[in-house]
Amino acid sequence: MRGQGETGTLSPYLLAKVLWSTGEGIGNTAAHEVGHQFLGKSLACGMNDDTGKVDVYDGGSADGGKDPSVYTGLGPGGQPIHWSSNTGKCLFNMMLWGKPDLTK
Ligand SMILES: [Zn+2]
Repeated sequence: MRGQGETGTLSPYLLAKVLWSTGEGIGNTAAHEVGHQFLGKSLACGMNDDTGKVDVYDGGSADGGKDPSVYTGLGPGGQPIHWSSNTGKCLFNMMLWGKPDLTK
């Protein structure tokens, strides 16, 4: 990842950016996988790896071109990556009641 005209090592700024994005990617992917541990591949709870969902932990794409929030921590509108409401509700119920009951 070199800027145009550069031939040497990464600038401290670019190196920090690469390291930061790598950490974001690892952390946000870990959050996604923890969601699977609680909810499996539940379609009802939105953990079915839908690649059309962006800027959420429960999205299904690790393609930074389609959904950079996994690596930046921010969605297209600048909002922080988050759980979609349905999945968040399932996770809350699973932790509180031991079931992802969507009626609660
Ligand atoms: Zn997944």
